[in-house]
Amino acid sequence: MNALTRPNSFRTGPDENGMFGLFGGRFVAETLMPLILELQQAYEDAKKDPKFIDEMAFMLKHYVGRPSPLYFAERMTEKCRQIAAEAGHPELGAKIYFKRDELNHTGAHKVNNVLGQILLARRMGKKRIIAETGAGQHGVATATLCARYGLECIVYMGAVDVERQKPNVFRMKMLGAKVVPVVSGSKTLKDAMNDALRDWVTNVETTFYCIGTVAGPHPYPAMVRDFQSVIGKETREQMMEAEGRLPDSLIAAIGGGSNAMGLFHPFLDDEQIEIYGVEAAGHGLSSGLHAASLTGGRPGVLHGNRTYLLMDDDGQIKDAHSISAGLDYPGIGPEHSWLHDIKRVQYISATDDEALEAFQACCALEGIIPALEPAHALAKVMQIAPTKPRDHLMVMNLCGRGDKDIFTVAEYLGGM
Ligand SMILES: *Cc1c(COP(=O)(O)O)cnc(C)c1O
Repeated sequence: MNALTRPNSFRTGPDENGMFGLFGGRFVAETLMPLILELQQAYEDAKKDPKFIDEMAFMLKHYVGRPSPLYFAERMTEKCRQIAAEAGHPELGAKIYFKRDELNHTGAHKVNNVLGQILLARRMGKKRIIAETGAGQHGVATATLCARYGLECIVYMGAVDVERQKPNVFRMKMLGAKVVPVVSGSKTLKDAMNDALRDWVTNVETTFYCIGTVAGPHPYPAMVRDFQSVIGKETREQMMEAEGRLPDSLIAAIGGGSNAMGLFHPFLDDEQIEIYGVEAAGHGLSSGLHAASLTGGRPGVLHGNRTYLLMDDDGQIKDAHSISAGLDYPGIGPEHSWLHDIKRVQYISATDDEALEAFQACCALEGIIPALEPAHALAKVMQIAPTKPRDHLMVMNLCGRGDKDIFTVAEYLGGM
């Protein structure tokens, strides 16, 4: 794939070296290479095996609870039309749909991917599963499926995050996982990722590394995207059923970028469709306290791949900041970096304050308590929808429920 010329299809990547243009690849220790190649082969085989495909479909339906509904958010739509009218444009205001992935078992989209990786681990005969987690959502999804399949589960988590995310630590323990607090570096997600990679190198024979977003060395970014693409595939069918045509725009929040990639990928070649990825701008891009790797970072290597990262002037990885723990990842999946450079997807950002306002609007207008991550996407919906015609169909990925965030929100609102 050429770096900056547009390809005939946006959906064929990565190339055989795992590159999306200038991004991705496999930047790992020599000792890991044989494993990564073994994993890649196992995934290639599984993808074509009707037994694997059927088992995945069965579990997505009966255990995860898919398909998730595509829901017409009527009062949010009315609200955006009101905003348009107040701005002097009563003829504007897009029709807003929510893809309800917050209704999945474990409360977010993460389970779609973890299910795929755990079924793959079983196929490969691996009985020890390791994962890293920041906010704890990926750790909970991994612990859940390890319990379901009777596998050993070890979750690396920064010591700071263990303290910040106690309810999820407790959930993981209830589900039988061992949570290992990581005390190196800044004791957060990037340090947990390093320790997980180190564990993998040490225990190569028995261990499967379950990565929670579209990052890591090839084939993870493509594999996680494929497992999450169930979101976009369902959305295509459901929108055809609801409106008789495809949507006009898609929008999703981005931490590492897996829920967004899952919604976007099946639509990338429909070039008339506008696509928006929303990063977390924290206290604002100029404050330096944010998690916007594309809008406020530059390319480097982390977690086995080359991508846009938050770095200081010396090339050290900076800690990301966001009110939403699930968005404070200092990098972004390499496919997003590529889609950004070739301008197929527009990357924008929402601040903590904007997300909190959208969070409250969603509760009050739709009776849905969203996670703070999709609240970032909703904040941008509330800005973009009022500028679009009334027959414009907009889909937002409501990728997680907000139960986990009520204390954060309470603290913030109390502090006001
Ligand atoms: C983990 C998480 C995210 C961020 O991860 P992506 O890979 O960017 O999807 C976003 N929303 C929710 C609800 C999450 O749990």
